[in-house]
Amino acid sequence: MLLVNTDLFYGVSMTTPEHPPLSGTPVVPGVAAGPVLHVRGEVSPDAISRYGDGGFSDADAALSAYDEAVAAVAETFSTKAAATQGAAAEVLTASAGLARDKGLRSAVSKNLQAGPGPVAAVQGAVEQFVTIFTGMGGLMAERATDLRDIERRVVAHLVGEPAPGVPTPDVPSILVAEDLAPSDTSGLDPALVTALVTERGGATSHTAIIARQLGIPCVVGAAGVMALPTGTFVVVDGEAGTIEQGADPDDARARVEESRRLREELATWSGPAATADGLPVKLLANVADGPWAGSAASEPVQGVGLFRTELCFLDRKDEPSVEEQADIYADVLSPYSDGRYVVVRTLDAGSDKPIAFATHEGEENPALGVRGLRLSFGNPGLMDRQLDGIAAAAERTGTETWVMAPMVATVAEAAEFAGKVRARGLKPGVMVEIPSAALLAHRMLEVVDFLSIGTNDLTQYAMAADRMATDLAHLTDPWQPAVLQLIAITAHAGTEAGKPVGVCGEAAADPLLATALIGMGISSLSMAARAVRPVGAQLSKVTFETCEAAAEAALGAPDPMAGRAAVRALLGH
Ligand code: PEP
Ligand code: MG
Repeated sequence: MLLVNTDLFYGVSMTTPEHPPLSGTPVVPGVAAGPVLHVRGEVSPDAISRYGDGGFSDADAALSAYDEAVAAVAETFSTKAAATQGAAAEVLTASAGLARDKGLRSAVSKNLQAGPGPVAAVQGAVEQFVTIFTGMGGLMAERATDLRDIERRVVAHLVGEPAPGVPTPDVPSILVAEDLAPSDTSGLDPALVTALVTERGGATSHTAIIARQLGIPCVVGAAGVMALPTGTFVVVDGEAGTIEQGADPDDARARVEESRRLREELATWSGPAATADGLPVKLLANVADGPWAGSAASEPVQGVGLFRTELCFLDRKDEPSVEEQADIYADVLSPYSDGRYVVVRTLDAGSDKPIAFATHEGEENPALGVRGLRLSFGNPGLMDRQLDGIAAAAERTGTETWVMAPMVATVAEAAEFAGKVRARGLKPGVMVEIPSAALLAHRMLEVVDFLSIGTNDLTQYAMAADRMATDLAHLTDPWQPAVLQLIAITAHAGTEAGKPVGVCGEAAADPLLATALIGMGISSLSMAARAVRPVGAQLSKVTFETCEAAAEAALGAPDPMAGRAAVRALLGH
């Protein structure tokens, strides 16, 4: 997949070795080398000024031009969505819907009445919505990038320019952008775009999701990368998070080849998971619905470590009945009735996952508000009905079912939840996402049977940095020593109590970090099914003693970059 032809390297500008490597957050491992190719971000100002106010007879005529541009842009998204699948298709379909949004159209219409012409009317309306979305934070703020992309495309269509976006490379290239919208990244050919690097964006950005799907190395939040001139020859290391200039092409080719060989080797790993000296490790899948659970079941996993139930209801206005919930949950449980188990998480509605029938409206700070388990404080029936649905599905399928609550802050909350779960004959646990839960993990384990560390939120709350904030990617990094310390405290509590403590956030999918987590005493790692083989293969190469050394090195490092470097050195990468 990673084409490397040294001949291609000589036609591009070389930079001198005195440039120190740029660095960012590594999100998809692998090494790629090639010339930098920039994404064309903006519509040319000349074309916009030539277009002026468009010369329409009245606001209605200008609105028709807007409608026509929106229809064309939405059609492009839909066509791209039809040509792709999975997460990429979902985000493109969402973008098509956003382009046609009625609220956006009425804001444009209102601006047109004031007379500035369609380009200014669209820009003004988008600005207004971006301000609202950004103010809402979380997943909504992330949509600001999509809105800006829609604005550029609609304006390009109005003024008669080609749509901005990714130019088709002539040679295998490294795509570099400020940030990437889903429409930029869909349809990318991994033979021609061999790595993605963005100046902004975090580990959960669209860029990271798409790069994972394409299986190409990716580094996000790499400050200064936009200043690299087009054509600069760089080596991108998606495990170290570095972008190096001035490398020797033969040396670069050898590194890319070695990385390709390693990744091929990882893809053939088929379990069961254990360290090189035979310590068994549980690898589990994160899923969101029946089809997802079904396809994950054919991977070398011992079950599901995180079933995000709220994702089944994102588009529901009303709460589904207990019977309907039982049907939905049974679809997820049944592929694992062969002796494996499923950890079902009760609704984590609120903040970045608003659910119409559960979320509280108008909270000042939804990430710190009534989300997850807290929704049951004022609406205990919501939790009771969901637990009834889960219990019915467990009984129907015969699958071993564990149930955990998200956003648990106190031991009393954990005890009350555990009582309800046990009353239904199921195994209770809680997620450790709030630092208070990590610090009191030993007391949590007196009242529940297992803990599962949600490193995405634990990092957000430990570092006081919005997990979606593209400018704070260096803080929302699970390699932050303070986050690792909280994980180590929780893992230690599990070892002492003899009860399972797993990790189900993104951190579990990082093969390097996985070694350190196992070294801390974590008993299971749950991740996107695609990540299971690389993690399993990595663990099979190291002894538990090396895992312990990796834990010590990561915990003792001054920052995430140093932690990664220390663990890489220990593992001989
Ligand atoms: C987490 O916070 O790490 C987690 C697994 O939950 P979610 O990502 O769904 O918030
Ligand atoms: Mg969470």
